[in-house]
Amino acid sequence: MKQARRLAPRAIYNQPVQTAQSSAIIQAENLTKVYRSGRIEVPAVRGVSFSVERGEFIAIVGPSGSGKSTLFYLLGGLTRATSGRVVIDGVDFGSLDDAARTRLRKQRIGFVFQRFNLLPTLTAMGNIEIAYDISGQKQPLDHAYLDHLSDMLSIKGRLDHRPSELSGGEQQRIAIARALITRPAIILADEPTGNLDTKNSDAVLAMLRRSNKELGQTVLMITHNLEAAAIADRILQVRDGQIISNTATAYAAPGAPGSAPIVPPAVAGDGASL
Ligand code: ADP
Repeated sequence: MKQARRLAPRAIYNQPVQTAQSSAIIQAENLTKVYRSGRIEVPAVRGVSFSVERGEFIAIVGPSGSGKSTLFYLLGGLTRATSGRVVIDGVDFGSLDDAARTRLRKQRIGFVFQRFNLLPTLTAMGNIEIAYDISGQKQPLDHAYLDHLSDMLSIKGRLDHRPSELSGGEQQRIAIARALITRPAIILADEPTGNLDTKNSDAVLAMLRRSNKELGQTVLMITHNLEAAAIADRILQVRDGQIISNTATAYAAPGAPGSAPIVPPAVAGDGASL
């Protein structure tokens, strides 16, 4: 099993968020989200701060109800924070009106969801093309790049099939191609292997890893599965709306932010779920 490194006290989530000169592509600063229903308040995210460097692969893990999805919505600009800031690629989401936030989301963030969300009446290719059109890119779709992605994701022969003719793993790989085709600043993946068997899960995780290594793609993946999380460079563990640990895995580049002396692995690797 890969050895993990627990971060020293200088863990990033306790550090002040860096300034505009920083190379961080995601900055979450003292983020909170409180859901209100009548007189009941549910604090789902409670003062979370961390940053993600360009080109990092981060996993956020935690048990059900720990606030992962809420964090995902906040980072993706899908909901507003109650307080605190989210800065994506230098732009503060909170400073934008709804239209500008939607634009930023389309241009800079690629989403991958547990349920694939492919349009059933279109072929795989049609799904990728329509996503590209909707994203409002100025350049026409780069077919050479799509070819490259198709090779990388092993979906070349599957592009003229409809989702119902594809396996779950193939559908998720099409969804990853759809997310990558706009060359987003970050990929946000929410339980991308949640609907897949082990073999397809492994393939999808390997593809996410490959897109990170080969394209330098920044990836932030939410999961409840520690084994899936172990493929990331760094694992942030969430409990009760707070980050409780920040662990560099053996994949982290030496000298990468937060790298620290090696101590016994903090992460179980055999399919354990939180
Ligand atoms: P996770 O994704 O880790 O399961 P969530 O972010 O979905 O966690 O939920 C965190 C907490 O916020 C839970 O207590 C959940 O019940 C609550 N919650 C989530 N969404 C809502 C909502 N729309 N309204 C009220 N409470 C919510």
